[in-house]
Amino acid sequence: MKAKEIVKYGAEVLTKKIELLNKKELDENLTKGIKDLKNTLSETKTGIGLAAPQIGLSLPVFITMDFEEMAKKESTDKLYKAYINPEIIEKSKECISSSEGCLSVPGIPPIHIYRPNKIKVKYLNEEYKEIEEELFAEFGCVFQHEYDHLQGKLIIDHLKKTKRKEIEKKLKKNNFNNEKSIINKKSTKRKMD
Ligand SMILES: [Zn+2]
Repeated sequence: MKAKEIVKYGAEVLTKKIELLNKKELDENLTKGIKDLKNTLSETKTGIGLAAPQIGLSLPVFITMDFEEMAKKESTDKLYKAYINPEIIEKSKECISSSEGCLSVPGIPPIHIYRPNKIKVKYLNEEYKEIEEELFAEFGCVFQHEYDHLQGKLIIDHLKKTKRKEIEKKLKKNNFNNEKSIINKKSTKRKMD
């Protein structure tokens, strides 16, 4: 199956809060969505997590690389783990600085975000089994980053107003240049035909 195109900053689907699914809605749509997420993330060089809205799906699911399973299996192949209907039920007061980039917000330097160092989370795994666990440090931050996507929140939404404006200006310029290059590509193609 082919990788999907990653939706970039400016798209409406990245700004929407996604509702949790009820049991009846846990169906093949979701299974297909998880497969698409895995195929898409495995095509990227740097991504360690991907949320449904980033491939244009309004589903409450994200995946991350499964470092635990990779260590257990001594695997160099990338393995992924899906989190369906994820919720954060507890956050520590203590925060850590997390340096984050995002596949949907390309072309900008990493953004430093203060996030709770310890979180307690609840979600369904791919067998729809309810899991509750505590996540720390980097693992907790990856979860929080992907969880943010399901709330319609991007890394730039953590910035102070002035800094955010500055970055958004750059992102809009990047988008404009991308569109221009697509148009140029199209017109060269037309010429070649
Ligand atoms: Zn992201």
